[in-house]
Amino acid sequence: MKLTADLGLCQGHQECLAEAPELFDFDDDSYQVVVRITEPSGGQLDAARAAVKYCPAFALILED
Ligand code: SF4
Repeated sequence: MKLTADLGLCQGHQECLAEAPELFDFDDDSYQVVVRITEPSGGQLDAARAAVKYCPAFALILED
């Protein structure tokens, strides 16, 4: 599975970091998410799905 962020949509809520801190960083200059792990596997997938679900801007994409 591939995890990406649409930076055209990301509004810096940081809900993703709350759900999956191991998968994301945050760029304080652009005030947007940085995807650290672009191919989550195993237990990371549940955290990635939660981050996608709870992103208020629908900016995260998890796909095959
Ligand atoms: S929760 Fe969504 S909008 Fe907020 S920082 Fe994360 S990806 Fe961006």
